[in-house]
Amino acid sequence: MAEHESLEFGKADFVLLDNVSMEEFMANLKLRFDKGRIYTYIGEVVVSVNPYRAMNIYGRDTVEQYKGRELYERPPHLFAIADAAYKAMKRRNKDTCIVISGESGAGKTEASKYIMQYIAAITNPNQRAEVERVKNMLLKSNCVLEAFGNAKTNRNDNSSRFGKYMDINFDFKGDPIGGHISNYLLEKCRVIFQQEGERSFHSFYQLLRGAPDSLIRSLHIQKDPAAYNYIKVGGQIKSSINDGADFKAVADAMKVIGFTGDEIQTVYKILATILHLGNLTFGVDGDVTLIENTKLVSILRELLSTKEENVEKALLYRTVATGRDVIEKQHTVQEASYGRDALAKAMYERLFCWIVGRINDIIEVKNYDAKIHGKNTVIGVLDIYGFEIFQNNSFEQFCINYCNEKLQQLFIQLVLKQEQEEYQREGIPWKHIDYFNNQIIVDLVEQQHKGIFSVLDEACMNVGKVTDEVFLQGLNTKLAKHAHYTSRKVVMVGADYSLFLLKGMWPEGKLSITEVTKRPLTAATLFKNSMISLVENLACKEPYYVRCIKPNDVKSPLLFEQERCRHQVEYLGLLENVRVRRAGFAYRQTYPRFLQRYKMISEFTWPNHELSSDKEAVKRLLQGCGFDHDVAYGKTKVFIRTPRTLFSLEEQRAEMV
Ligand code: ADP
Ligand code: MG
Repeated sequence: MAEHESLEFGKADFVLLDNVSMEEFMANLKLRFDKGRIYTYIGEVVVSVNPYRAMNIYGRDTVEQYKGRELYERPPHLFAIADAAYKAMKRRNKDTCIVISGESGAGKTEASKYIMQYIAAITNPNQRAEVERVKNMLLKSNCVLEAFGNAKTNRNDNSSRFGKYMDINFDFKGDPIGGHISNYLLEKCRVIFQQEGERSFHSFYQLLRGAPDSLIRSLHIQKDPAAYNYIKVGGQIKSSINDGADFKAVADAMKVIGFTGDEIQTVYKILATILHLGNLTFGVDGDVTLIENTKLVSILRELLSTKEENVEKALLYRTVATGRDVIEKQHTVQEASYGRDALAKAMYERLFCWIVGRINDIIEVKNYDAKIHGKNTVIGVLDIYGFEIFQNNSFEQFCINYCNEKLQQLFIQLVLKQEQEEYQREGIPWKHIDYFNNQIIVDLVEQQHKGIFSVLDEACMNVGKVTDEVFLQGLNTKLAKHAHYTSRKVVMVGADYSLFLLKGMWPEGKLSITEVTKRPLTAATLFKNSMISLVENLACKEPYYVRCIKPNDVKSPLLFEQERCRHQVEYLGLLENVRVRRAGFAYRQTYPRFLQRYKMISEFTWPNHELSSDKEAVKRLLQGCGFDHDVAYGKTKVFIRTPRTLFSLEEQRAEMV
């Protein structure tokens, strides 16, 4: 609670509200936004409202203000939370993570970049060359990932179309020595289709508008995005994005990270291949399906360095297993077009995963000693898209929203449940707080045998025989009794059938019968598993939260749409968060650690106490300062109710040391 900030800016911590009500919460949020205070705390949670304008609060001078300070000493800021996570990691040897949530355009990715920038700025005081190199690569990796994973959408000109979790590894000195990126669920259908007003991934436009003429010629492409079916919609869109300049920046970043020239050329070839694929059309001659534009086939052959008949085979036939034999079956025109699109999506997804993998190869902790023997701690940063609800929702929205339910679950578990449990453990009286536990929603999706994912998996085993209706029936039978299941709401899940067409189209070498008949893991199962492991990974770290709010839908720096913001405050559970925080204590610490930090401010405890226990000593210390009324003494920890008390202890300490 940064109380030193003048009240004309509202309350710097929602815990300080006179009454915890939605009205007061919203009034404070709006007042602060209007005054240019975009960050506010709920205890140690940062609530951030997207300012939609450049703020002069991320510079070197601001870094210096936050470096090494306690959270409450300075106005609310991302830097404070980043510093808290860093301190916990360095001083207490804890793995920490910063979970950034909020809907599309709320400011998550910008926040994650400021956090990384801050960590880079405060580490490596000795300017070790190796550490500088790692820091540079970590920062540059964002630029490359955004080129291939971000797109202009109606909500955000630079919207991340994938989820990202990045671990930064630190050595015993607290300097970054490597990292690892996990990516989740790239929105690959964007490769072949975009809504009105949106674009495909930046990478395509960057290539067309930024590539030198020689490259344009060798890839047989034209500079005008409108020439390509897959990115046409977006091609017409004028925006502030400078694709040409970005092309060069991304190429430089790839070089800095360590991509070879050959690798970069291959990336361009794949992008061009996808663009050409989108222009392929199919026709029939008698009962034979054929590719109409033969010139494109020879371009594809050249770009993929393969034989022409391989291109045709891949696009016109699928491999099916009948009994012991594998036969090639010709596609209809419609199947061939589906297949073409599936191939384009798969190629792009594979390209993206390959890029992430390549970055990981390069940034992973190399020093064997540091890995095995040294103190190697981690700060993780999670930037994953928030809830999405459109007019037409596809499999992607389903997965995204499931993921958010999982994260909300984790938040509830960690912040609310653990808080209550800790008071119980410590024997401190607790007033029960009601909150909506969304475990039931998570179960609806992921439960074995009867969750939505299971039903979907079953449906996918019978590709060809299963229609959306059959799938829906399956859901209806299995989930009818679930309190939160409403039949028609999940129709969209079955839509993306092309996912499963893919396996015959994109064989890894030649498929044997066993491989053809073996059940592949479905996209849904893969995603579910990756979410479960993400949540496990986060759950074993000390979490810090940034909750981002989008103030309006028109990217305006002035507009605070009351209703829209209230809705976000509601589904992020922020009010409950304040209630728990208020019911509880702002600060807690084990007795020995508390003494370690504050023993110098009391004659009873300095330099050593002679009381029967550390707990008694802490009692004497706090009684001596007149803070006894604001404190509860648990079995192993002291709990301080208001931050003012803590702040004053810090001041007294500062006078002594
Ligand atoms: P998200 O990742 O949540 O979808 P972004 O982080 O990409 O959203 O933010 C969307 C846009 O909002 C950015 O491109 C930028 O224009 C603006 N924005 C977000 N955060 C800030 C900030 N702290 N300062 C200034 N502008 C911001
Ligand atoms: Mg983003």
